[in-house]
Amino acid sequence: QAKSAGRNQYCFYQASAGQQNADELKLEQALREALRLQQLDVHYQPKFALATKQLVGFEALVRWQHSELGTVSPVLFIPLAEKLGLITALGEQVLQRVCLQLQQWQHFAIPVSVNISALQLADTEFVTRLHRIVQLADIAPQLIELELTESCLIPEQAEQTLHQLTQLKALGFKLSIDDFGTGYSSLSYLRRLPLDTLKIDQSFVQDLPGNISACQIVSAIIAMGKALGLDVIAEGIEHQQQLDFLLQAGCDKGQGYLVSAPRPAQDITPALSAKAIKPVTAA
Ligand code: C2E
Ligand code: MG
Ligand code: MG
Ligand code: MG
Repeated sequence: QAKSAGRNQYCFYQASAGQQNADELKLEQALREALRLQQLDVHYQPKFALATKQLVGFEALVRWQHSELGTVSPVLFIPLAEKLGLITALGEQVLQRVCLQLQQWQHFAIPVSVNISALQLADTEFVTRLHRIVQLADIAPQLIELELTESCLIPEQAEQTLHQLTQLKALGFKLSIDDFGTGYSSLSYLRRLPLDTLKIDQSFVQDLPGNISACQIVSAIIAMGKALGLDVIAEGIEHQQQLDFLLQAGCDKGQGYLVSAPRPAQDITPALSAKAIKPVTAA
């Protein structure tokens, strides 16, 4: 029940309305405190070349471990942060963490992607503030890819978004569309955006290779991405048969539990240093 409620809602079991409000309030207070004390953490999931399984980058994913509530999923607290007007603060803490990590990994020049919520991007100060954070940390913007979802691309703000993305691109940031294929963005609009990457949504990847329509959608996305000169990466790869399908369909990169779940940075650094996982390129 709680899970099927989806991304924009949260409810605990079949609790009474009163209990549910109390739980929400508790979560809300806990989130405010976590932000105030900068307790959110970031894990990193490897992105790899499908053909060789060599490391090509990481995706940064926010994590919240609460002393009483336990591990709270971002699927729960990101929408809450959006609802409470805390997403900009949360997003900046994540970006700061990622910049510190990139400093530590400077020697490897390994790109990291960061998820950006539609509401963060809607903030007119977003570009300026992001640029300042990255400059202060002395990180090359080329190492940071911003993962936007199609919900960032609402038609009412098409021109404003195009302008922002053009600015971000000019500063050197890479731009990717996350969960591609699940939203409603028009191809004519997408074509105008200065994108680098399409990320195939994991809901399609999960149904490979047994489900014909999933296979066709994935093949179409790969073909279209390539025709537009974009990088295509598949997320949520758990099985070798999924990887095999993606590879023969022309997809170059992927991420998923098959190779590695998101891991804390301290688990990754030793492997990077030992070249147990070896970056392919220094972008
Ligand atoms: P997303 O950006 O599409 O991230 C992919 C999700 O799939 C992550 O869940 C990741 O842990 C999970 N995943 C990775 N490999 C596999 C796999 O092989 N199988 C399956 N079943 N799942 C896999 P997570 O970390 O719970 O994040 C969920 C969503 O929360 C993200 O979806 C993203 O939309 C949002 N999110 C996470 N971190 C941030 C953040 O720092 N800022 C914002 N605005 N949103 C974030
Ligand atoms: Mg993502
Ligand atoms: Mg995704
Ligand atoms: Mg997703």
